[in-house]
Formats: sequence, C-alpha cells, structure tokens
Amino acid sequence: MQPDEESAARCRSCGGDDLAVFLSLGDMPLADGFIAPQKLADNDPRFPLDVAFCRDCTLVQILETVPPEQLFDADYPYFSSVSEQLLHHSQGNVNDRIDDRHLGRKSLVVELASNDGYLLQFYAARDIPVLGIDPAPGPVAVARDKGIDTILAFFGRDLAKDLAAKGRKADVIHANNVLAHVADTNGFVEGIATMLKNSGVAVIECPHVKALIDHGEFDTIYHEHLCYFSVTAVDKLFRRHGLYLNRVEPLSVHGGSLRLFFEKHENPGASVREYLASEHAEGVDRFDYYENFSARVRAIREELTQLLSDLKSRNARIVGYGAAAKGTIMLNYTGIGRETLDFVVDRNTHKQGRYIPGVRLPIEPPERILQTQPDYVLILPWNFKDEIMSQQAEYRRRGGRFIVPVPHPAIL
Ligand SMILES: [Zn+2]
Repeated sequence: MQPDEESAARCRSCGGDDLAVFLSLGDMPLADGFIAPQKLADNDPRFPLDVAFCRDCTLVQILETVPPEQLFDADYPYFSSVSEQLLHHSQGNVNDRIDDRHLGRKSLVVELASNDGYLLQFYAARDIPVLGIDPAPGPVAVARDKGIDTILAFFGRDLAKDLAAKGRKADVIHANNVLAHVADTNGFVEGIATMLKNSGVAVIECPHVKALIDHGEFDTIYHEHLCYFSVTAVDKLFRRHGLYLNRVEPLSVHGGSLRLFFEKHENPGASVREYLASEHAEGVDRFDYYENFSARVRAIREELTQLLSDLKSRNARIVGYGAAAKGTIMLNYTGIGRETLDFVVDRNTHKQGRYIPGVRLPIEPPERILQTQPDYVLILPWNFKDEIMSQQAEYRRRGGRFIVPVPHPAIL
C-alpha cells in the first residue's frame, strides 16, 4: 500500500501547502512492526520518511501517512505497564490532577490512548470514575481485566459527539504521546473540545520538537509520529478549536517532553508566555532552525558506525538493549545489523522471539545479557538509560560497558 500523496501535500494542522522538507531518512520499515518468526520469509513493508516544516503555522510533520490498520494491528505489542519509570510518572500526574481539579466520585476522567490502563488505574484506586479509549485489542483486554472501563476504538470527532450526547463529558481528558500519532489531527482536537466540560481541562503530553532538534533525537521520527510539536505550533492548533493553552510544564521523560494544559477560557500563565517567547527568540518558529539538522543526523550515523566497527575490529561482542520503535529507526538508518549485534534484548515478553524489522535482529529476554556477558550493550531507548543501567547493575559489576547513540555516540 502506498502513502496517500494527496493528503501529504497539505499541512496536518493549518491545511496550508507551504511545507519545507528538511530531513529525509529514506525508506524505513514500520518502527513497531516486530516480525513474528513465521513471517520472516515476507518482505517488511517500507515507506519513505520525510520531515517538513510548515511555513504557515510552524508545525513540523512527516509527509507520509501509513494507514492506521497497518500501524496498529491486532498483535501490536506495546504495553505501557512494562516501564516502572512510566508508572511512577503517571501516579504523580494523577495525584496532582486530583488535588488541583478537586476530583471526586462525581467526576469523570477520560484518557485517549489509555493502553492497558497504566494511568487510569491510579484514579480508579481512589474511586474516581474513569473511561479509557484505545484502538489496540490486546492492551484494552488487559485494562478491562483490571476493571478499567475502556472503549475499543480510535478517538475522534464522531466518537466524541456520541459520548457527549450520552452525557459522558469529562472533567479531565488525558492524552499522552498520542496527539502526534493521529492522522486526523484537527478531528482529534475537535473531539477533545466536544467531550470536555466547560470547566474541564485537557492535559496533553507530547515530545517537544526543540529537544528532538537540539539533542539530535532523529530516531524519534517514525511513521507513527506524524507531528512534532513546538508550543507555538500546538497553541495555534488547539486555539482553532476553542481550547486555550494556559499552562506548560517541562517533563524529563521521553527525552524532553511537555505537559500542556488546555481549557475553554483563555488565561495563559507565565509558563506559556515564557515558552512562546523563548521559542521565538531561539528561532523554533522559523525554518532556519531546522535547516542543518540533516547534516547533524548524518554525523551521528558516521560516529556510531565508526565506534562500533572499531570495537568489532578488536573482537568485541556487542548486543542491543530495548526493542523500542526508536531502535528500529536507529538500526535501519545506520545499517547496524547482525554483523555487529548478536541480538537485542527486551523485557516485553510480547516482543521476545520476534525480530527487529528491516535489520532482522532477534529479540531475546534480558537474562541473555548475564548468560552471555557481552563486552558492550548498546542502549537503543536512550531515554530509559538510567533505568536500564540500574536493572543491569550486575552486568556492569562483571565488567560490562554501555553505549548510547544520542545526543552523541558514547561509551558510558
Ligand atoms: Zn501549517
């Protein structure tokens, strides 16, 4: 199946056609398309990956839209509750919202892309009514088993209208790392406006495009991530639907993310004014800022492949840690495969036994690290490097070393 060229020519937010491409990663496989052994004989689907800046509304976005049924198939293996760091982060988020919105038994908290209930479970534990919405059957089944009321569907304009008509309007709507994944960006935001009570708040988390550019995080660019938001761009998008950005909090997870608070009245706090001013001062709202990114991405590729080939020439044994989407992009863009890495480990049992798309590296359980004691472990989900290194303290104690690829390839 080919990406839709028609819709690719228009900005996902403002609909304008002045899109300036600043990075082409080439034909890449689907980052989360981990291959089951019985499918190894098939060719991996590949799609171009081109990133552009909209000169009209400043939104950074990829041009291709892979059909969602190909991206999120029935055995989509991601379960949020696997990461302890994410659970801890979520519990803090919930406690803060219960306090600052005075939530109780008559409130309703909705999460869009609620996955396995990793976040809503903390509200439910405090007797606050919740509703999850998620299109992936596996995680939804797990959420329902935990007693989290969850609708199996893609969220958008129409579902929001149905729910609002049934009186299911929300005091808080959470949407964490999903806004960038949605093909109908405006329909999704309109749906949030429809489902939110007049007194409600939408709490949206997304990676900050400034972190991506400043730290060379090109491996966070993949077909699932259609948009890369600045505060400037996201403000324009939501404002179009009567939702106003009133507060911004920086988050350290996912390599520099933002938590954005939208309400139906405009009352921007100092944090909003500061982010908008600093983005303008640094040029995040202008094309120049993105222009040399492509050269920096190529430099990371050269440094990493050089580092690993030097180690291999001294007979080092190297494995990868983390069958994360960003790992698929890093390995395929740099061309690092079985000649360099023996295998990749991952804690997620749904991924073990499968293969990284494109480079076809096998995914094994983390215990394989201590069993084989390689000289180096290349950490692919570098945003979880502290958690991974502390889980693998014994490996390090026995003399093992870690490598991270970004912001610059380095041995830790
Ligand atoms: Zn635009």
